[in-house]
Amino acid sequence: MKPTGNNCETAKSGVFDSGPAVLTDFDDTAAAQNVAELLLDRFGHPNWHEVRQRFRDGQITLKEYQEITFRDIQAGPEEMGRYVKDNANFRPHFRELWHYCRDQGIPMAIVSQGLDFYIDALLEKEGLTGVPVYAVNTRFTPQGITYQYDYTHPGREELGNSKGLVVDRFRQKGHHVFFAGDGSSDFEAAEHADVVFAHRALARHCKEQNIPFRDFKDFEEMHRAVREYSQNGTNR
Ligand SMILES: [Mg+2]
Repeated sequence: MKPTGNNCETAKSGVFDSGPAVLTDFDDTAAAQNVAELLLDRFGHPNWHEVRQRFRDGQITLKEYQEITFRDIQAGPEEMGRYVKDNANFRPHFRELWHYCRDQGIPMAIVSQGLDFYIDALLEKEGLTGVPVYAVNTRFTPQGITYQYDYTHPGREELGNSKGLVVDRFRQKGHHVFFAGDGSSDFEAAEHADVVFAHRALARHCKEQNIPFRDFKDFEEMHRAVREYSQNGTNR
């Protein structure tokens, strides 16, 4: 579901506390797999690994890597959606955390630099309706996929969406932001979030930068921490 409404109407003053908000990366975090790579393996041009290497070497941005590798895919969203449903799944306790947040009125959202259609496909498979998704908005046209970025830093549009910007929007509304992620696209968000659950490259980055974090395996610990904060106003 695309997020709605203006998220910037209030400034965090420290006077009010809007309670927790839960934001999670998608590929390799909310999803047990890197769904983008699953799709590229199945539908992409055989050279997509080389393009990924150029991204990893810092020669191109994540935005460019994604647009280049998905550009030539011939399959439509239905076919790719079916493949996602057959081959991907959420990590344990994602569903429980979503239901808890929904029942408690705690905002929870997926924040991804990936593409909306494959995230929506997995949510649909799991029957999880109403989960807000901050991702790249895609449209399938006869000329190929078009990409729309709604969460960029002004003047830094070439970098694509910023997860840090989305984290800031929730903090500006007075939320205590819990964030989970794994990759380089999560570094900025982790630097802005109040509580970080990290694994893989993000955990290494947090160690190097002395950013406090908790090990991420699945959503059980995050669920416990959010519940504790919600009940006691603490995350210790
Ligand atoms: Mg990820």
